[in-house]
Amino acid sequence: MREELTIDEARPLLHTAEHVAVFTGAGISAESGIPTFRDGGFWDEFPPSQFATWSGLTKLAATNPARLAEFVHCVVGPIAAAEPNAAHQAIATFSNKQRRVEVLTQNVDGLHQSAGSVIVHEVHGSLLRRIDGNGRNVDPLSRKDLRDVAERLAAKPRTILGFWRAIRPLMERRGLGVVRPDIVLFNDEMAEPDWTKSQAAAKTCDAMLTVGTSAQVYPAAFLPLTVQRRGRPVITVDPSPPEDGYWVPGKASEIVPALLS
Ligand code: NAD
Repeated sequence: MREELTIDEARPLLHTAEHVAVFTGAGISAESGIPTFRDGGFWDEFPPSQFATWSGLTKLAATNPARLAEFVHCVVGPIAAAEPNAAHQAIATFSNKQRRVEVLTQNVDGLHQSAGSVIVHEVHGSLLRRIDGNGRNVDPLSRKDLRDVAERLAAKPRTILGFWRAIRPLMERRGLGVVRPDIVLFNDEMAEPDWTKSQAAAKTCDAMLTVGTSAQVYPAAFLPLTVQRRGRPVITVDPSPPEDGYWVPGKASEIVPALLS
């Protein structure tokens, strides 16, 4: 069952909690200039069958590098240029000596850390982290590295060699394997240890704030369900209504700072 609340009605549910889990999705970063996938027809332009699995992307690298460059540019460009907005910042400053705030995010944009949040679990990984062919972490990237990649991809490399040159250091051949972004695509396992820590937070928090997620991507969407089943409040900030729980309608950058101040 869903219940719409005003900001004043929802505030005490969060301010009286000693342990708050904040579950975020693409919508929290929309006002930082990173489009959500669902709202803008992204999957129509880049069908998941081709673009949402590593095997699909690998095939495309060999057959149509120019199209792959277009896709990667569309994903990396906005994230490379983004800065945290008022919602990311309000979440970062909500944590204090009396209150533990854990951010569980589906986003790969690193904006919670840029805003200063200390406990951030990235259940779908991060575009700023990289792993080698054995799944081991290698040195992370900066947003400037991403900007450089985006700039080279904007020049529309047409050949396989041009594509590989443009995409370095986000992806590069190293030894017998490939270093690649540590992000979760369709059919992949969730990012660890972030997923286990997120599940633990959902099982122990006093309240959950969810911001900008359609909660249609599983298993991540089990997190708010877990909190609901424990009888703890789940407060959703989103222009679109959630199926269950409390809903404060509106945009993240307007509602979240007012809720958490
Ligand atoms: P989604 O695209 O399924 O849903 C976005 C939600 O955000 C919708 O409910 C929409 O109503 C809401 N929204 C749009 N503008 C908003 C605003 N200004 N304020 C608050 N809410 C707003 O996104 P999802 O549920 O996160 O799932 C899509 C998947 O795509 C995720 O797994 C995520 O990893 C990935 N993704 C990540 C990014 C990113 O890192 N910034 C961007 C796009 C997609």
